[in-house]
Amino acid sequence: MAVIIDGKKISQQIKDELKERVEALQAEGKSGALAVVQVGSDPASGVYVRNKKNACAYIGIESLAYELKEETTQQELLSLIEKLNQDDHVKGILVQLPLPAHIDENAVIRAIAPQKDVDGFHPQSVGLMTIGQDGFLPCTPAGIIQLLKRTGIEIAGKHCVIIGRSNIVGKPMALLMLREHATVTITHSRTKNLQEICRQADILIAALGKPRFVGAEYIKEGAVVIDVGIHRNEENKLCGDVDFENVEPLTSAITPVPGGVGPMTIAMLMQNCVESIAKEGAV
Ligand code: NAP
Repeated sequence: MAVIIDGKKISQQIKDELKERVEALQAEGKSGALAVVQVGSDPASGVYVRNKKNACAYIGIESLAYELKEETTQQELLSLIEKLNQDDHVKGILVQLPLPAHIDENAVIRAIAPQKDVDGFHPQSVGLMTIGQDGFLPCTPAGIIQLLKRTGIEIAGKHCVIIGRSNIVGKPMALLMLREHATVTITHSRTKNLQEICRQADILIAALGKPRFVGAEYIKEGAVVIDVGIHRNEENKLCGDVDFENVEPLTSAITPVPGGVGPMTIAMLMQNCVESIAKEGAV
């Protein structure tokens, strides 16, 4: 029987640990706020923003919400970010992606002060991660490392195959698995023999954004499978990139959707915020 990796439980443990740490930091006189900026009213983004505010409230840090209208210009958004960069009480700045098409996401990410970049998307954070130095780690891949470690899954020496090479999941995931001494293969839409490569994986991480794409034919018996995808199926139910029913019996451990990777992303965002408060904004 496969272990069903319980992201809900593990993320709750992390948030409880962070709550205690926030209390200890407050006793030392250290506090601060996370600024959450949303442009437009995309319903999915609205849910994510609400979850982030709730998580802040749970662990005991302040969140400041900036809900800007869809027509906000890039310059107006950059001015707000500059104001938040200068505000010593703000220890983390998160701009909810995607942004409306008239705004250059890269320019916005670069405008956030690296010492407040709790999403870990700024080129400086990415550079520090790449050379293995301290900096904010992107939340979804960092959350997956925690899921594996806290479930007692050995990473060192394992062959990890990642499907997807995006800047927010696939690429940083590969770097973090490498840091944990896995042997890493990154695959993408131009990869030939994808099934064959995936069948060599001890740990398979699916982050391609295609509902139930990864079936039993992609799995080596006993593999660990991590499903990053989030989709709504025809019945409006959440599902992942993995065909869970057919894949689960072949695995030694697998994440469900929902309740796997998703809750970890927010827990790791909270961790980055707490680290920023602990460092008083200096990375
Ligand atoms: P993305 O930017 O669309 O990237 C998808 C990647 O998958 C690309 O590198 C693409 O290759 C590759 N790909 C697409 N079709 C493929 C195929 N048939 N075979 C092999 N590779 C293929 O997506 P993302 O932002 O990384 O997100 C991936 C999924 O994770 C989405 O479902 C997203 O909703 C979910 N997600 C979940 C969380 C969470 O908290 N749980 C966080 C972030 C994302 P090319 O580069 O060649 O185009």
